Amino acid sequence: MYSPDESHAMYAPPVADPSAPSAPPAGTFDNVPGYEGTMVGGGGFLPPPMPTMPMPMPEPGLAQPNWNIPSITEDTAREAFIMFASSKCCYNSSPAREGVITRMDAFNTYRYRLETFNESRSTEWSQEPYNGQPVDAFIQAVPGPWDIPAQAPGLFKDHTQVIRVPYTSSVKNCYACVGMGRSPCKDCAGAGNKVCWVCNGSGYRHGDDRCSHCSGRGRENCSQCRGQGSKECSTCHGRRQILVFINLNVKWTNHIDVYVVEQNSGLKVGNLSKVSGKEMHKDAQYLVYPVRGFPDPAVVGASERLVREHQANYSQTSRILQQRQTIELIPITRVGYMWKGKSCVYFVFGNEFKVSSEDYPATCCCCSVL
Ligand SMILES: [Zn+2]
Ligand SMILES: [Zn+2]
Ligand SMILES: [Zn+2]
Repeated sequence: MYSPDESHAMYAPPVADPSAPSAPPAGTFDNVPGYEGTMVGGGGFLPPPMPTMPMPMPEPGLAQPNWNIPSITEDTAREAFIMFASSKCCYNSSPAREGVITRMDAFNTYRYRLETFNESRSTEWSQEPYNGQPVDAFIQAVPGPWDIPAQAPGLFKDHTQVIRVPYTSSVKNCYACVGMGRSPCKDCAGAGNKVCWVCNGSGYRHGDDRCSHCSGRGRENCSQCRGQGSKECSTCHGRRQILVFINLNVKWTNHIDVYVVEQNSGLKVGNLSKVSGKEMHKDAQYLVYPVRGFPDPAVVGASERLVREHQANYSQTSRILQQRQTIELIPITRVGYMWKGKSCVYFVFGNEFKVSSEDYPATCCCCSVL
């Protein structure tokens, strides 16, 4: 039986102080021309120089695409529906197998997609313990942030790269330990020992029993610093000096916007993101020009709007490397069928013949119970 003053809180071992080393003071880092805004922990964006490539010229209008709307046969519709029903553990496939198709209507639509692949750059002051690394600050003029070569590993793929900016590395006394290499142990306030957490300093437990944890001393060695009262500086790893330098963070991002022409089939537009369509137009270059001459004015309007938005959003604070626009025709077939006197509907859509059926007439009851 524990008495109230032997609560668990009193017996809990002390927790190491989690507070981080202090921030570097002003003057730790040099002024580097071209990098004035660089901060510890990341600076603002670096606007790129004006593009040297000419603005694109409009392309001639698209050739009249092939208007043979791909429609599916009844057999294809039924096979897709049976596959769909058997992929659902709780669906009885009888309606899919035995239902009688009464009508099929095409609600094909267009999907326009614009991708803008851009590169943005930012800088930050960084540091590491000094172990004799090369020191090159002020040996030569520092190249500008956009003059440092960096190559994206592939177009339209997100990627990041960290590059140490040449001629910015210099050695400084460690600010965290003031060049001592060690800092006082926060756990024992530098004493090397502290009050025994088992007997709370009395040396005794349960009346006359001597505390076995501290052998009756009432104090125990600090486990965090092994009784030394100080610890190796975590900033310089005991080296007393640190190397400070500027890191250039290069980030490649593919920004994608999609516009799907509204269709009134009843199929929810979210379904279409899972399928592909027939590619009717594809155009990739440094800067694309909005599509022209496409028969659906909604696609032309979306292209004009998105190209304008992307060039406004991504050419000021970053550098556009490549754009790509595609138009797909997505087949959608609405299939009406009868099963046991009930009239139902499903959709077959996309090159993959994906099926959506919200009123499937024979789902088993286990789903609703769960
Ligand atoms: Zn003790
Ligand atoms: Zn300690
Ligand atoms: Zn230090």
